[in-house]
Amino acid sequence: MSQLALAGGLPVRTAPFAKWPIFGDDERRALLDVLESGEWGGYHPSVKQFEAAFAAFHQAPFAAVAANGTVTLEAALHAAGVGAGDEVIVPPITFVATAAAVLRVGAIPVFADVDAALNLSPEAVRAAITPKTRALMVVHFAGRPADMDALLEIARQHQLTVIEDAAHAHGAQWRGRHVGTLGDIASFSFQHSKNLTAGEGGILIGNREDLIEGARSIFNQGRIPGGAWYQHENLGTNNRLTGWQAAVLLCQLARLPEQLERRARNAEWLNRELAALDFLEPLPADPRVTLHSYYLYVLRLRLDRLPGVTRDAFTAALAAEGIPGISSYPRPLYANNVFRKYECRITPCPEAERSCRDAFWVSHNVMLAETDELKDLVAALKKVAAHAGELAARV
Ligand SMILES: *Cc1c(COP(=O)(O)O)cnc(C)c1O
Repeated sequence: MSQLALAGGLPVRTAPFAKWPIFGDDERRALLDVLESGEWGGYHPSVKQFEAAFAAFHQAPFAAVAANGTVTLEAALHAAGVGAGDEVIVPPITFVATAAAVLRVGAIPVFADVDAALNLSPEAVRAAITPKTRALMVVHFAGRPADMDALLEIARQHQLTVIEDAAHAHGAQWRGRHVGTLGDIASFSFQHSKNLTAGEGGILIGNREDLIEGARSIFNQGRIPGGAWYQHENLGTNNRLTGWQAAVLLCQLARLPEQLERRARNAEWLNRELAALDFLEPLPADPRVTLHSYYLYVLRLRLDRLPGVTRDAFTAALAAEGIPGISSYPRPLYANNVFRKYECRITPCPEAERSCRDAFWVSHNVMLAETDELKDLVAALKKVAAHAGELAARV
């Protein structure tokens, strides 16, 4: 058997995987149109056009675009009236913005554990609720919808606002319904790494006009629909998306359905291949997840089958074999120093802690590869696992 690339052996793969972002003449033409229109900012017609198109794609009646998927979370909280003294339940397995947004509006993030699929656990949420709880921040981690049946039922019982942080989940579906239309309001990001991107950008969509219009007013200097230019009804700021971004996003949205399908097809193949590998723990299947957008393809190691091997040693060896786009969380979000500087509450999160030792993921562009190329991912996983003893000795 050949040596690990980490130890000087030949890597499984030297060719690159699919590049990201993907673009072509449509994007070139759209950007030129904005250039020549003379209207470069947030009032270029493509901004409204994209806002409507994204909402229609998700079958959401209301939408408001913004500069990124962080200010959208803050505005959603503001619009829902969440502020000082309120508790908002958040998962610890997510990007910092999910919980930081809660602090930025003066509220208290309460970290509740995730389930084996790395989404907010309904049981943990129930245990974290107090009379001060006002909202749930539900992340569809990696693009897999969280258990919305259970979470919405808890929210109904306790009259909590449900904010979906759908930054990973463009186009994902729960029981045939698009994420972003399940809770009260939902936020998406168009940052460079996301499945739909213009480098930066964000949007709120949902069924509640009051929340969307409240957020829109914040994004646009407190203006209101039909109001005059120098008429400011609310305390707002400038979080407008530009014409450049909207023009690119319209082109990217046209590419999304095919990309979603390709990722899902590849994931199905990978799931089958990896099920045979005893050193991996498959994520629990859930037939209610009718479309997983695979922003990330999550893998979990069975460390009991890989004695002495750490997740970080395993992923370093995998990267050396030529597999790109691998990452993992070094710690649950609450273990970052920022959350020691503000009032937060951390409920027991054993699953989140465990996942920070055994979980890693490959990014969505790897999932856009030809199925044939994914064979290299499987081969690299097998090769690294076969050298587990050697890897353990290197630590
Ligand atoms: C990317 C991301 C955000 C923030 O979006 P930006 O557009 O980068 O500000 C928020 N939440 C999650 C879960 C994300 O992955």
